[in-house]
Amino acid sequence: MSERPADHGSTEVPARRVFRFAPSPNGLLHLGHAFSALLNHDLAHLAGGRLLLRLEDIDRARSTPEFERRIIEDLGWLGLAFDEVPRRQHEHHADYEAALDALRGEGLLYPAFMTRGETRAFAAAFEEREGRIWPRDPDGAPVYPALDRDLCESERNDRIAAGEPFAWRLDMARALALVDGPLGFEDTGGETPAEVAAEPALWGDVVLARFDTPTSYHLAVTVDDALQGVTDVVRGRDLLPSTSVHRLLQALLGLPVPRYHHHDLILGGDGRKLSKSRGDVSLRALGEAGLTPADIRRMVGLGPAPA
Ligand code: GLU
Repeated sequence: MSERPADHGSTEVPARRVFRFAPSPNGLLHLGHAFSALLNHDLAHLAGGRLLLRLEDIDRARSTPEFERRIIEDLGWLGLAFDEVPRRQHEHHADYEAALDALRGEGLLYPAFMTRGETRAFAAAFEEREGRIWPRDPDGAPVYPALDRDLCESERNDRIAAGEPFAWRLDMARALALVDGPLGFEDTGGETPAEVAAEPALWGDVVLARFDTPTSYHLAVTVDDALQGVTDVVRGRDLLPSTSVHRLLQALLGLPVPRYHHHDLILGGDGRKLSKSRGDVSLRALGEAGLTPADIRRMVGLGPAPA
């Protein structure tokens, strides 16, 4: 009988991996969400990990309890079960406030008063005058001109006291100067796993909160992934550029860096990404038309559910 050497190593039980599906309850799930949710489930299952549900409902104008209810029902119909109660972002403002305070304490945030419309007008005037393109962020919006980054304290205070709306923007140049060396993250969503270089500078001075909402998507997702102990972020490739901002925030806030898996998107017949706002067919409508969860798995290119 061959004897295995006694293991005198650490008695620590390796931590279970934690995955999460994080829909925004501002519409019904479509096939793209179904793919993401099922892939999270399958990968968590194969890894012996846990799967969490997070409802990204900070946009109070568009999120509704009705969409939330229907999303949870549709996920149940797909056969997905989640560990823990779902985390609703709007119930955790204090966590985002704490992160904002930490960044503010480092002098990395400033109140920015230019609206989206004013930023677009600034970019158009620049392009007209200079005959060259004003930079766009990865979402295609003009990068914030940051004309008010260096306002003096008293002018800032006067404008805030006068009730002028503003956003808390990250001073990107200062933030990059604070972090140690280039940032990267692991992405297993491509053909081969790759170490991807983060490029947060492409976003310019991103919005991290608004005067009346203590967070933006970027801040909430980064804080929540850390607080929920998420080790594996599995989400669509459309969010790959955003991961650069999340990676920077992790470095600034001293948060752990999950493994990323940016998966392919399910495209509509016209080759475009499915979208709730364009009224792409919902998972619910497919179910009502007689398709089964097994049909949905096939439609998104997944084999039978792992046993
Ligand atoms: N709430 C985002 C969405 O529905 C997903 C965010 C994420 O997975 O990080 O598109």
